[in-house]
Amino acid sequence: MNQPEKPEQTVTCPNCQAVVPAGPLCENCGQPLPARKWYSLKGLNAAEIFLLILGSIMLLVGLVAV
Ligand SMILES: [Zn+2]
Repeated sequence: MNQPEKPEQTVTCPNCQAVVPAGPLCENCGQPLPARKWYSLKGLNAAEIFLLILGSIMLLVGLVAV
């Protein structure tokens, strides 16, 4: 049984210090978790980052070229 470690998917609750899956609320004590890393660059592959940049450029071009 493979159980790959995914440190990106867990956070340490600032309230109860429990290591819980990343999410809006702590599964242990129910306190809101800081949602600062719902995305990480490690979780995005090159194509997704490229699309994000491309989307930003297209948006800027659209605003300028009106
Ligand atoms: Zn907690």
